[in-house]
Amino acid sequence: MNYQNDLAFARRQDEQDSLKNFRSRFLIPQHNGEDAVYLCGNSLGLQPVSAQQYLADQLNTWKNLAVEGWFQGDDPWLDYHKSITGSIAGLVGAQENEVTIMNSLTVNLHLLMVSFYKPDNKRFKILMEGGAFPSDQYAMESQVRFHGLDPKDTIIEIFPRDGEVTLRTEDILKTIDENKEELALVLFGGINYYTGQFFDLKAITDATHAAGAYAGFDLAHAAGNVPLQLHDWGADFACWCSYKYMNSGPGGISGIFVHEKHFADKELNRFAGWWGYRRDKQFLMAPGFDPEVGAAGWQISTSPIPLLALFKASMAIFDDAGGLDTLRQKSIHLTGYLEFLIQGINKEQGEVIYKIITPADPVARGCQLSVVCKRNAKAIFNYLAQNGVIGDWREPDVIRLSPVPLYNTFEDVYQAARLMADALKAV
Ligand SMILES: *Cc1c(COP(=O)(O)O)cnc(C)c1O
Repeated sequence: MNYQNDLAFARRQDEQDSLKNFRSRFLIPQHNGEDAVYLCGNSLGLQPVSAQQYLADQLNTWKNLAVEGWFQGDDPWLDYHKSITGSIAGLVGAQENEVTIMNSLTVNLHLLMVSFYKPDNKRFKILMEGGAFPSDQYAMESQVRFHGLDPKDTIIEIFPRDGEVTLRTEDILKTIDENKEELALVLFGGINYYTGQFFDLKAITDATHAAGAYAGFDLAHAAGNVPLQLHDWGADFACWCSYKYMNSGPGGISGIFVHEKHFADKELNRFAGWWGYRRDKQFLMAPGFDPEVGAAGWQISTSPIPLLALFKASMAIFDDAGGLDTLRQKSIHLTGYLEFLIQGINKEQGEVIYKIITPADPVARGCQLSVVCKRNAKAIFNYLAQNGVIGDWREPDVIRLSPVPLYNTFEDVYQAARLMADALKAV
């Protein structure tokens, strides 16, 4: 696309945007009486206008039907999650029975490790991206210790080459191959939270399987952001949170994927609870755990209906938007526009002050751009915040900005970049 650095251009893009009406379905935070420029959907997605009603409906069911709400009413709680499961399966490229909704992300990571990390004398190593999200690092380390192993000899982290900021797929694949005798698991983020790099998950899965190990993915920054084909890629398992690009609210409920090839595998350990029991016999309360076939068999506890209600409000919007393909098209243009404007600032300055460390190839990124500020980084971030641009800050000098196609506009992106240019004079 031929981008232009002017407000009229940005407004024209918004006029022509087939998704332009979706912004009004979200509550945009205010700054000095106007819409803030919210570019932080990578951290917490915005509240759907309908969220209050979805929640109120369930509070009413509780009020009116109390315990009968599990079986009666317009949308009985027992199957309340089912309509959302289909939408989510579509977003991550899974069959409906390969996906379920439960717990929160790090908890699910632990539960899936119970099933898919079974170290023995020969195969015990875990390969991860270097600098993974801290919670994932802590989870892996504690899992390894739980098995009586030392993380130092067990977890392999792969880092970018000297002088580079993102990983090369060829290096990831080579490291997998080099460790193929001892590798038990490859656990990668779908999109790295810091750099915004979208990894080649299919290539990683293929190489991992060729090495005889399991491939699992943390899709916190990928789910609802970029198209995924978990089933076709053959990924063994995945999990994600829904409060980032999926807008389910702070601490919203998480999702898991387990590939159908594992459904019949009786060797897989799992930590069981009654909510994962065969649904047709769940209430017979019989001894001996007989899991529901599919990802639902990994559930443990009673569904948190209020959290599901919030999630459902957001999934209805994704459904109306026609799923991820349309969103992705706009997303590529929107993030590309931000990149174009930032590069324009650098050109004008005659030096790279805002260094984008996210890959330039749209195939290797989602909404987010991570920008290293070479000068007065924290002061620039504060200037943006004071002027109504909400991004987020990562030590020591990175600002993450994520235009989200469901609710951000080209004008948002234009205003953010204009303030980034102004900031260089102001601080
Ligand atoms: C956001 C995020 C988390 C957060 O985990 P919670 O259990 O929801 O607090 C974990 N891992 C990654 C990669 C993330 O991006």
